[in-house]
Amino acid sequence: MNRRESESNLLIRIKALEEQLQEANELKELKALHLANSEERFALAMRSASDGLWDWDLKTDYVYYSPCWKTMLGYEEHELEDNLNTWSTLTHPDDVENALAEVEDYLIGKLNVFEFELRMRHKNGGYLFIRSRAFKVVCEATGEPLRLVGTHVNITEQKQAEIFNRKHAEVLEMIAKGHPAPQIYDAIALLYESRNPGMRCSMLELRGDTLVHGSAPSLPKQYCDDINGIKYGPNVGSCGTATYTGKRVISVNIETDPKWVEFKDYALPHGMRCCWSEPILSSSGKVLGAFGMYHDYPSSPNENELQDLISAARLSGIIMEREKNLKKIRDLAFKDTLTGLSSRAQFYLTLEKLTARRSHLQNNFSILYLDLDNFKHINDSMGHDAGDMLLQAYADRLRSLCQDPDLVGRLSGDEFCIIVDTSQNSISAETFAKQCLQLMSSPIEIRERRIIPSCSIGIAHYPEHGDCSKALLKAADTALYRAKDLGKNRYTVYNSRLTQKVEYKFKVEHYLKQAINDDELTLAYQPQLDLVSEKVVGVEALLRWHHPVLGQVSPVEFVKTAERIGRIYQVTEWVLTTACNQLVEWDKSNSGPEKIAVNISSILFQNSKIVPLVTKIIDETGLQPNRLELEITENAIQTSKSGLETLKELKSLGVMLAIDDFGTGYSSFSSLRQLEFDILKLDKSFVDEILQDKKAELLIRSIIIMSHDLGTTVVAEGVEKRAQANLLHELGCDMVQGYLYSKAIKSDYIPNFIAETNNKVPNWEI
Ligand code: C2E
Ligand code: MG
Ligand code: MG
Repeated sequence: MNRRESESNLLIRIKALEEQLQEANELKELKALHLANSEERFALAMRSASDGLWDWDLKTDYVYYSPCWKTMLGYEEHELEDNLNTWSTLTHPDDVENALAEVEDYLIGKLNVFEFELRMRHKNGGYLFIRSRAFKVVCEATGEPLRLVGTHVNITEQKQAEIFNRKHAEVLEMIAKGHPAPQIYDAIALLYESRNPGMRCSMLELRGDTLVHGSAPSLPKQYCDDINGIKYGPNVGSCGTATYTGKRVISVNIETDPKWVEFKDYALPHGMRCCWSEPILSSSGKVLGAFGMYHDYPSSPNENELQDLISAARLSGIIMEREKNLKKIRDLAFKDTLTGLSSRAQFYLTLEKLTARRSHLQNNFSILYLDLDNFKHINDSMGHDAGDMLLQAYADRLRSLCQDPDLVGRLSGDEFCIIVDTSQNSISAETFAKQCLQLMSSPIEIRERRIIPSCSIGIAHYPEHGDCSKALLKAADTALYRAKDLGKNRYTVYNSRLTQKVEYKFKVEHYLKQAINDDELTLAYQPQLDLVSEKVVGVEALLRWHHPVLGQVSPVEFVKTAERIGRIYQVTEWVLTTACNQLVEWDKSNSGPEKIAVNISSILFQNSKIVPLVTKIIDETGLQPNRLELEITENAIQTSKSGLETLKELKSLGVMLAIDDFGTGYSSFSSLRQLEFDILKLDKSFVDEILQDKKAELLIRSIIIMSHDLGTTVVAEGVEKRAQANLLHELGCDMVQGYLYSKAIKSDYIPNFIAETNNKVPNWEI
């Protein structure tokens, strides 16, 4: 072999050697790879015999799934193909993308370890929580990832317990913190859904015979809407039946269950296939609703699921019952139980919100403070039940006037308040008040008795009359006070002068209490004369009050005040005692009149205390009862049956009864029909007209004739002119009283007056 030949052989050998070497290297690498593969699998297999192994060839997407991996998901070895598609179809759709992103990050080295939790669907339809861990196998030469080898561990139980405990604690915290019920219902549904992957829960509330949507955070809105408002019954799906029977209903297959015939078309399109429903019961066993659990495959609950269904219903029951109790409490606080209108507290809250909100805006509104006229009469004469019925009827009328029932409140007994939005409403508060007065005064039938009620209204405008709720209410109340004062059955709009008047009134109240306690009231006596003989036959005792600051206060004013502040009984007791004692005193010197008249406030006829009082005074003074005349205005007997009874009892004591101010009340003639009065006192307003108005003369003539027919004596009040006395004499009037003869005078002057008058020759005999 020559040198050239040997050189070329050498080259060939070197090349061959090089090729062998390369082959050997590749083989080594492959061997290494193989070794790594089985070592890894072995190592992984050793870690947990129950873990599922997987080995993903990143180039071909061939994936080796160990038998354990497949059985974990409920499959036989041959049932699943060894490719990536198997994994992606079994993984929860929400987790696929995240898992692949995690793989990507791990493969490119962004993450050092691959560990990921995902949900995979079990063959039975439910989902398992899986912890996936993996190692990448890389090409030694290039560093390129070739395979991903990993394990699947079923962590469902641990995961569910973890989530369940956390969510359970959250629900308890929500209950403790008083979160709104719908939020808690949702949390309960999600709590049980978390423990049972794939399950969807619902909670329906039973109201009367109707099922109302309570919560279903994972169910489609369409389904909830379709079910909301259905009536319960023996064949109304699972929940409708469970609420109806009060028993658990397990519908294994919605499609074939006869109870679902009419409702399955609501559920099937949304994939719901089975429904288990547990009635929600109160602590006393009353059905409050139903808790439902849905799966999108036909199934009956296993032991755990059944326990969950029972405890979900129990937990919902606690909230539902608490909610019902809270509602009751809220209603009690915010709704007036008698009328269903806003309670005082609620109304104040609404008003407060309005004044706070509107102070930034231009919008105005008014409040109407409304008080029923003479409500106390009705209550006292017809009983509290009748009073309540009247208040309810009133409330209904007010509700019909106002669009928003929250804006009408009952503040107390017979006091109501309405907020009128004058910015949106085309009508003014005054027009609204007129409508109120009109509506309120239409007759109401209560216990077969026709009542013509009326009310008085005080109006205050916001912000003119008060820029906060308190000031506004005070202004409206002041205006109401004025409306009452002006004669009731009317409205008054607030103005600042009214405040002064009210303040004056409060002052009067205060001073009057002092005067009553300190015995500062006095009596004056106005003579009453027989019109034929023109001799004094009686005197009317009239209250007088002179106050150092207020001066002379009219009894018209302070008697009303005494009534309002609840001192009228005390005052009347004093008047009766003083007047009767006075007559007895005059008798001693034989210088007084035959009889004495005392005014009795109508308010005293609302209870029967007046009868024992009169009895006591007659007994104590020894006065002959027929020498005492009690003057009563018509309204004392108008509405009150018990008032009429009281009058009869008084009459049976033997005292004289006079109807005072005859002609000024509403039912003068019916008063006469109802009771035999001894005396009829023609009001001064008639006497004032007698000379100018022929009709008044005619009327008086008729009243006198009629009274005489009834055996009643007629006294004309307020006779100031001789011509009036003459005409009255001519018309046959029996007695007179008036400034023509005398004003009310001190008791000391009465004997003289009587002596002088009774010695005179009557005017018509001159
Ligand atoms: P009344 O019972 O109708 O008394 C008649 C009133 O008319 C008295 O006014 C009397 O002074 C007044 N009067 C009498 N003659 C004339 C006259 O010719 N011209 C004018 N202009 N007035 C005349 P007074 O004393 O101011 O009493 C007013 C009302 O106050 C009484 O009306 C009565 O309703 C009430 N009142 C007075 N005292 C008492 C009382 O002791 N108890 C109760 N409940 N009310 C009383
Ligand atoms: Mg009188
Ligand atoms: Mg009178």
